[in-house]
Amino acid sequence: MKYDLAVDLGTANVVIYIVGEGVVLREPSIAAVSSRGRRKVVAVGLEASRMLGKTTQEVQAVRPLRDGVIADFRVTDEMLKLYVEKALRSKNASRKGHNMVICVPCDINTMEQQAVREAAKRAGARTVLIAEEPIAAAIGAGMDISEPRGSMLIDIGGGTSDIAVISIGGLVCAKSLRTGGVKMDDAIVSYMRRTYNMIIGDKTAESIKIEIGTAMPESSLKSMLVRGRDNVSGMPMSVEVTSREICTAMDKCLTDIFDSIREVLQETPPELIADIMEDGIMLAGGGNLLEGMPERITYETGVKTVLAESPMDCVAIGAGIIAQRVSGRK
Ligand code: ADP
Ligand code: MG
Repeated sequence: MKYDLAVDLGTANVVIYIVGEGVVLREPSIAAVSSRGRRKVVAVGLEASRMLGKTTQEVQAVRPLRDGVIADFRVTDEMLKLYVEKALRSKNASRKGHNMVICVPCDINTMEQQAVREAAKRAGARTVLIAEEPIAAAIGAGMDISEPRGSMLIDIGGGTSDIAVISIGGLVCAKSLRTGGVKMDDAIVSYMRRTYNMIIGDKTAESIKIEIGTAMPESSLKSMLVRGRDNVSGMPMSVEVTSREICTAMDKCLTDIFDSIREVLQETPPELIADIMEDGIMLAGGGNLLEGMPERITYETGVKTVLAESPMDCVAIGAGIIAQRVSGRK
């Protein structure tokens, strides 16, 4: 069996890899859906993402995946189908009969897994191989996980954070928590309301996080002018916020993640801990792009921590490498 396509169907982003080509598509997991009649998908990806929070009553921008699993089956199917077509078109690859490796979070149940398999089939896959996300991410980050040696990987995505210890190509201990980049955005939205009586949208919150957010409370101070609506008067308003405030706003989400990392380390067999101490912790996923994340994790655990080379592509790249290996290609 030759697997030629690898898909990371993430809560925040879909990344597609074609064997022999590499990553050919990166798009947000967002669809614009008409709210009249049979909820037709009218746009996906960047186009739909620009509509988020700015839609009319007739068209709504939705995220069909939530907490790492499919929340809206029909919209997910349609979105994935469009992305697979687009990826294949971009490389003039054959449109027929591909075999797909697709990744799922490590703790989803069989029904949720079946839903992913069905979505892949409806997107045109003849054969579907399900791969575990942390394993794919570790391979994609360039870790050698085939040896009897402990490796630790932390993937913070939009809806979930996966913490995994891997040895001989399999999970030794793992934890998946339903928190990630989106929870950080939500925390910023409620901080702005609580502190300034100011209403801001999710997209604004995300851009605050990306621009001035930090995981290190003591890092250099940045600030930014934020525009929104006064919750009392209903009129437009703007305030200057600092990176320190945003760090405080996100504190609960960050602490939840650090607590879980410590739990996983506590459960890890001592021989593997020694390996992890030596090799360090690897970070993948967009959430780990938050400024100061590697430094903070080092501070919280005492273990040196590095960010993967392309954190948001790791899962797709790793799934692509798995596809090549099971196909017997080098
Ligand atoms: P998923 O696997 O769930 O699709 P991704 O790995 O694509 O998620 O990561 C998406 C998340 O990463 C989003 O919540 C986004 O806001 C966040 N993100 C992307 N870039 C940055 C950045 N520079 N700083 C902080 N967060 C970021
Ligand atoms: Mg992911």
